[in-house]
Amino acid sequence: MSIKIFKHLINPETIYNLLKLSDLDKSQYWSYEKLKSFQDKRLRYIIKYAYNNIPGHKSKFDQAGIKPADIKTQKDLYKIPVTTREELQENPDFINKKRVFKTLYTGGSTGTSLKYYDDIISAIIRLNVHKRGWEWNGYRYKKDKLAVVSSAQGAVKTNQTLFLCGDLTQDNLKINVEKLIEFKSPYIRGYVGSLYILAKYCLDNDIDIDFIKSVNPISENLYDYQREVMEKAFTGAKVFEEYCCNDGGACAWECEAHEGLHYFMERAIIESDENGEMIVTDLWNTAIPFIRYKNGDKVQFLDKKCSCGRESPLIKVKGRENDFLISPEGAVGATYLMNRGIGYKYLSKNGKKEGVFKSGINSVQYIQKPGFVIDINIVKNPWCIDEEIMDFRKILETEVLRGMIININFVDEIPKSEKGKRQFIINEDKELLKQYRDKTRI
Ligand SMILES: [Zn+2]
Repeated sequence: MSIKIFKHLINPETIYNLLKLSDLDKSQYWSYEKLKSFQDKRLRYIIKYAYNNIPGHKSKFDQAGIKPADIKTQKDLYKIPVTTREELQENPDFINKKRVFKTLYTGGSTGTSLKYYDDIISAIIRLNVHKRGWEWNGYRYKKDKLAVVSSAQGAVKTNQTLFLCGDLTQDNLKINVEKLIEFKSPYIRGYVGSLYILAKYCLDNDIDIDFIKSVNPISENLYDYQREVMEKAFTGAKVFEEYCCNDGGACAWECEAHEGLHYFMERAIIESDENGEMIVTDLWNTAIPFIRYKNGDKVQFLDKKCSCGRESPLIKVKGRENDFLISPEGAVGATYLMNRGIGYKYLSKNGKKEGVFKSGINSVQYIQKPGFVIDINIVKNPWCIDEEIMDFRKILETEVLRGMIININFVDEIPKSEKGKRQFIINEDKELLKQYRDKTRI
């Protein structure tokens, strides 16, 4: 055990919480009322903790004229002002250095990246809710074979995990599908767009995959036509959607009844504002408390109970709406693009971590126009240098957007769509999209 973990464990409160974690398997069958009172208890704790230890939250409370004692249950949450991602970005007033156990970065599917933290308890909770969610689709963590498509999220590098990576161009898809057939894993996980492109390739090329039991799409909106293609391509498989936004702790999984996603009440409180925007309060994270945090997704509470018997509410999340680009060589999913250019990159030398490189590109947006033209909107950070932009363009031209005309525009901010969202990929070539979709025989 490292000294860092040990230091956290000697805190009596931590030990109490760790013991409680073993109950997650049971708590999925708690009544709604019991889950709510569990949330209220954690809420009172986290609010008091944040007020006493985090200057950013204390000043928000003071400005609103409220004290922790004013927040008794989640019914009082409306009194607390909302916190935004922009407010937390690199803001030491919201970070509790003494509790930082792990540094995390949000994925780039929104076009920007947030650096945030876990304490040891929230790190364990994060893993445990994932384990429970995955078990609903049959996958047992570290025990079963799993194929992961273009995403390392939630995967552990063991000989039980196959990483299917690359740009998902036609050549690359062929290699990935061959690897998958050789590995024969009953479980497959990946970003929605990437799984869809892979499944569609199998259908279009009459490749029969019948060993997959469940498909676990993550991180982007899942549309019915994509679910249909996945279940058709992987004969006998069922799709289990997953929603997880670790900054803020909102997460939800589809159970075996497939009637919606159950929101995991043990980790966070999810609210919906008058515009359907999700507001989330993490019940565990003391390293960077997320209190009434607007994570940029939209949520709808479904007005029905799930037939599986679990009482945690069913939700539908409208999160990252991403199109995909189509180059003359084939479809390009969001995953590949979001790993290029933006955010943070670990630097290593001779296999050792040497630090973190923070990209000069603050955010990026791809817009495909008819005629294989891509307009790329870029918001630069002050330290961005021309060489980085040139490298970025070169990677796109030579690796993934071959044969396309690339126009780069520098903008002050990524324009919002009519719905108020900043979409990472927009494909305006509707005719080309239609041709791609119609190719599938379903
Ligand atoms: Zn259910």
